[in-house]
Amino acid sequence: MKLYDPSVIRLIKNKYGFRFSKSLGQNFLTDKDVIDQITEGAEITGDDLVIEIGPGIGVLTQAAAEKAGKVVSVEIDRDLIEIMKFTLDGLDNVKVINDNILKTDIAEIIRQEKGDLTGVKVLGNLPYYITTPIIMKLLEDKPGADSITVMMQKEVADRLIAGPGSKVYGAASVSVQYYSEVTRIADVSRTSFMPQPKVDSAVLRLDVREEPAVHPVSEKHFFGVVRAAFSQKRKTLLNSLGATGASKEVIREALGEAGIDEKRRAETLSLEDFARVSDALENRGF
Ligand code: SAM
Repeated sequence: MKLYDPSVIRLIKNKYGFRFSKSLGQNFLTDKDVIDQITEGAEITGDDLVIEIGPGIGVLTQAAAEKAGKVVSVEIDRDLIEIMKFTLDGLDNVKVINDNILKTDIAEIIRQEKGDLTGVKVLGNLPYYITTPIIMKLLEDKPGADSITVMMQKEVADRLIAGPGSKVYGAASVSVQYYSEVTRIADVSRTSFMPQPKVDSAVLRLDVREEPAVHPVSEKHFFGVVRAAFSQKRKTLLNSLGATGASKEVIREALGEAGIDEKRRAETLSLEDFARVSDALENRGF
């Protein structure tokens, strides 16, 4: 069954009396090329366990199941669980779980389902209203995924992949790049979905790092400093770092030790720069 075909989606909708839920971010993929870009971008092989977030009626699930050893898909909408019993019938390497991904114990799924499979890849056309919480849960909790290949709103993707000097570089870019190496797989037009969303999309692949990109003395302190620095993006570091509670004198000393000009702004600092500033402030009790 071509689950990406709009006429098939309409038939399924009518058969089950299904209505798209805007609040659950239900925009289903109708573009076979994009589906191929996602599964190829994720480099799924027969040795992989795929964890899929938000399968909808199963369009990516079906494509992933052709390549993966096993696919476990987590979907919150009970109505879609019923529909997938029909659309994914006969795919014996697929398991669908009815749950909220933000509450799902992904590490436990991996423990139960991995068996002899050697890779764990997360895949999904994400529900956009919870893009960042989903990604940060996967990166911070480290349930055991090797990579995360996901569709999100284009502006969010632009932020997550941005580097120093870019206008959209911010705390989210630093957090995601601290834990993973980010690659853009595809830009996707709004016309590739049903119903058509009001925004364009992009697919990113995050390769989870075994070791974080930089090694500040304290991770928690590092993220506190990053948040403070970006909290008033247009201010110089000498001013914005005041949010850490440190005095101008202390900030001046710390920036000097880190080799960073006090007139620079947060958006010009690399992860290495932030790590040095974090350690220098921490040495001074801030
Ligand atoms: N993968 C399908 C596709 O590409 O056609 C559907 C993608 S749609 C953008 C997002 C899916 O995530 C919907 O099926 C929605 O019901 C589901 N979803 C929304 N919130 C969720 C949550 N908290 N946990 C799990 N699934 C969720």
